[in-house]
Amino acid sequence: MSGLVAEGPRSGRARTGRADAASTDVDRRGGPPPAPVQPSLRRLKQFGVRPDRELGQNFLIDSNILGVIDRAAELSPEDVVLEIGGGLGVLSEYLAERVRHVHVIELDSRLEDALGDAVGLLENVSVHWGDVMTLDLSGLRPAPTKVVANLPYGVAAGALLRTIEELPGVDRWVAMVQREVGERLAAGPGNGTYGVPSVIAQLACEVRVLRSIPRTVFHPVPNVDSVLVGLSRRGPAAGDELRGLVNGAFAHRRKTLVGSLALSGGLGSRPPRSRQPRSRPPRSRQPHHSREEVREALERLGHPADVRAERLSPEDFRALAGALEL
Ligand code: SAM
Repeated sequence: MSGLVAEGPRSGRARTGRADAASTDVDRRGGPPPAPVQPSLRRLKQFGVRPDRELGQNFLIDSNILGVIDRAAELSPEDVVLEIGGGLGVLSEYLAERVRHVHVIELDSRLEDALGDAVGLLENVSVHWGDVMTLDLSGLRPAPTKVVANLPYGVAAGALLRTIEELPGVDRWVAMVQREVGERLAAGPGNGTYGVPSVIAQLACEVRVLRSIPRTVFHPVPNVDSVLVGLSRRGPAAGDELRGLVNGAFAHRRKTLVGSLALSGGLGSRPPRSRQPRSRPPRSRQPHHSREEVREALERLGHPADVRAERLSPEDFRALAGALEL
């Protein structure tokens, strides 16, 4: 795994479960105000970190949320947890106390000292510097069994979908995400927010919005609402063909499913014509289906031929892919 920078002897404990943001109050006995006790606030100050909104850096400053995450994730000492976006390490060190191993991915190398302060001495923590959307997740050892994160807004849905696909050993996800992202992932057919991420996530997982998260638990306070979302694996991730079908079906939401597929090229490429030179490879390995074949498949499955993608459940998409022999 490239980008591995921090693995060391596990330190003694006594660094978590400390006071929360309220502990930053000025010293009422006079004298200079004490350094913040809450770890994120202390590290922000100590390491001169200026949060970068572009990277979704809204750091957790309320330790009570850590217990909520712990219970939702049903953490156990055998777990290997992947945390996406380590930040200032407040969640990383909490996890490290409770599970066998923690992989922390963090993109912003400016946080190296602050994150090192949190986990640099913990032998059961590996820090991987890089982008969660491009790092080789399947190469993580030991292989993760859970994903727990306060996700950066910009890549939240993409990161969750990527881990569903690339980490088959993960059976539970608990993540703080923007409310719209959580609701979209959990939405069912007919809901206005139901779309590609909902279907792809739910083909492999049961998805639930577990609870709202107050904006005040983050610093700086974000200008969007957050929720805690929980995913439990039901089966393997959708394959390329099924994902292609779902993407094509939703590509033109105002069209029927068949129309959208046709417009997006999702009906597959026509077989190469016989006059093409033999050495020329086919344009796509995906089989070609005419509009009529897709309409017939939909009707065989009990749907109107002119149904829109938003009416089909994730299992309906799986059945359609089967009917089309994708
Ligand atoms: N876990 C910390 C906490 O709860 O306080 C930080 C959470 S903060 C919402 C999200 C973190 O993800 C930031 O530290 C940010 O730098 C990092 N990040 C943003 N984009 C990323 C990406 N593409 N890959 C990995 N980390 C990313």
